Amino acid sequence: MNIIKKKALSIFENQLLKQGLVLDVRSWSPATFFEVDLHLPHVDMEKWQTVQHIKVKVAEYTYRDYTPTLWDTETRTCTLCINSSQSGPGSAWVSSLKRGDVLSYVGIGSTFHKPVAGKRSLCLGDSSSAGHFLALNQLAAADTEVCGAISFGQQSHIDEFASYFSTRLQPIREKNRDYSLVSWLEQQDLADETVYIAGHIPTAIQLRKHLRQRNDFTGTIKLQGFWS
Ligand SMILES: Cc1cc2nc3c(=O)[nH]c(=O)nc-3n(C[C@H](O)[C@H](O)[C@H](O)COP(=O)(O)OP(=O)(O)OC[C@H]3O[C@@H](n4cnc5c(N)ncnc54)[C@H](O)[C@@H]3O)c2cc1C
Repeated sequence: MNIIKKKALSIFENQLLKQGLVLDVRSWSPATFFEVDLHLPHVDMEKWQTVQHIKVKVAEYTYRDYTPTLWDTETRTCTLCINSSQSGPGSAWVSSLKRGDVLSYVGIGSTFHKPVAGKRSLCLGDSSSAGHFLALNQLAAADTEVCGAISFGQQSHIDEFASYFSTRLQPIREKNRDYSLVSWLEQQDLADETVYIAGHIPTAIQLRKHLRQRNDFTGTIKLQGFWS
């Protein structure tokens, strides 16, 4: 990055960056997936009606999006669930994070995903979407069923997801990203539910294609691509 761009970005950062406190970091085994508990004192979480995303500074002039989930409006705390199996600045940042660190972020914005009252929500995505679907589950009213499948690369992560979170989201083994979620979907009876797809973009497109070919599916598809 040239010097003029750096200067412009640092002015922008000085004006916009907000801070939160890292309360705790839990790594799963192996340590390619993390739960990060945050205190965000400037955020009014009561306003959250859709799944949110936070743009976090992970390195100099470098930002990545993550999904705040399991929030508590009174204490203004939440958790990020972050996959770090790839090598990138976001992975390096979360792997080095520890309790007491300050997190800098540009802001928090809405995605288009929110539960439809009284309608079954079927969620599909890879492990980067775990927080996104836990957030959707938190937003859903008691009469709105949230179910679906989240694929993980490690059997131990499947076990951890199942033991830490009491939901109807089923963790499944990701042998080949596209194949495992599509084949899981092939075994499901569909009707007029809302299907939420998030995470790896090529997989998301393949899942949408599969759904459009299903005669039993009369519902709506909502797709939120994360990475490719
Ligand atoms: C709205 C939104 C919400 C998001 N919420 C979350 C979240 O809660 N948790 C989360 O883990 N991610 C989330 N993501 C995805 C995350 O921002 C990206 O995966 C990000 O690229 C990771 O940054 P990185 O620096 O580690 O890797 P990058 O430097 O961006 O990418 C390095 C390489 O790894 C690949 N890659 C990127 N992500 C993954 C992955 N998950 N698995 C395997 N390979 C990958 C890339 O294709 C690239 O080849 C979200 C994205 C969006 C847009």
